[in-house]
Amino acid sequence: MNYEEILRSRGVSVKTTADLSVFIVCPFHDDHDASCSVFKDKGNFHCFGCGETGKFFELMAAIDGVPVRVARREFYEEANVEEVLSNLEHHLLLQDEAVFSVTSFDQDEFHRRFPSVSVHPEALEYAKRRGLSSILIERFDLRWGTRRGSMRNRIIVPVYDEKSRLVAWCGRAIHGEIPKVKKKERTSNVLFGLHELLMIWDRSFLPFNPLIIVEGDFDAEYLQELGYAAVATLGTAGLSPRQLALVLKCAKSVVLCYDNDTGGRKAVEGYVKKDGTIKRGDREKLEELIPTYCLTLPEGKDPNDLPPYQIHRYFGQYRPRARKRRRV
Ligand SMILES: [Zn+2]
Repeated sequence: MNYEEILRSRGVSVKTTADLSVFIVCPFHDDHDASCSVFKDKGNFHCFGCGETGKFFELMAAIDGVPVRVARREFYEEANVEEVLSNLEHHLLLQDEAVFSVTSFDQDEFHRRFPSVSVHPEALEYAKRRGLSSILIERFDLRWGTRRGSMRNRIIVPVYDEKSRLVAWCGRAIHGEIPKVKKKERTSNVLFGLHELLMIWDRSFLPFNPLIIVEGDFDAEYLQELGYAAVATLGTAGLSPRQLALVLKCAKSVVLCYDNDTGGRKAVEGYVKKDGTIKRGDREKLEELIPTYCLTLPEGKDPNDLPPYQIHRYFGQYRPRARKRRRV
């Protein structure tokens, strides 16, 4: 994506330098000197005047005076998702229809029923304590389970499939007295977090190399927050056939990182058996289909239990690389 051109096409005056970035007048403060630098390759910005920093779509939201959600959709969804999904659709059609069907729920109804997590300070605090920024909380559309029903007093984590359809939600208790996670529907046909990756990441990162696969929703969110391409299977049983198809379509290599508690250990063993076959779904060997690495975290730890510096220590080598772009 040519960020410089997008800025110019909106009448923003752009100061170029020989450097990796261009400078514009900052839309976040009363700027007279073009203090805001926009990186040419990724579109991220940083203002040397007011310190505001973020992604390109956040800058565009400020320039256009539209909600971040709208700007994000406009600039990323079309560019990234269309291309990937046109291929993906075809890919999935080649598979068994019955196995791959996805039932979805009405998103507006879901939003009416569960308010944004920000209405509940304690829940918001919990999400932030787990390392999620406001941007991520919005991106993953975290909701609050209010007072009644089986989802009461839980953070509701919606599960969107790769085409932005709401297929399930999980309730995560923020206090110890009720089980940690409760699932509303089957989630085995989606890769949690893939939707968000496709929406946000520059398409030069596709296919992901590698795609990190974890078990839990917050683990995937946390890793994404720290700059990794991570998705979650939301279960201990390994990849379902549809999940496998998605992985093969969207990744060039995978890193399996399942929780290392007892259940997690079982999951890894069940995941790729000793002879290399996948326990559930396809009988093909995962490693024959795609380069596969296993990453084990210290005893009893999930990614979300580790501070950022440790995450980078363990995952640093798996930072996704962008493809080299051809100059036109
Ligand atoms: Zn500024």
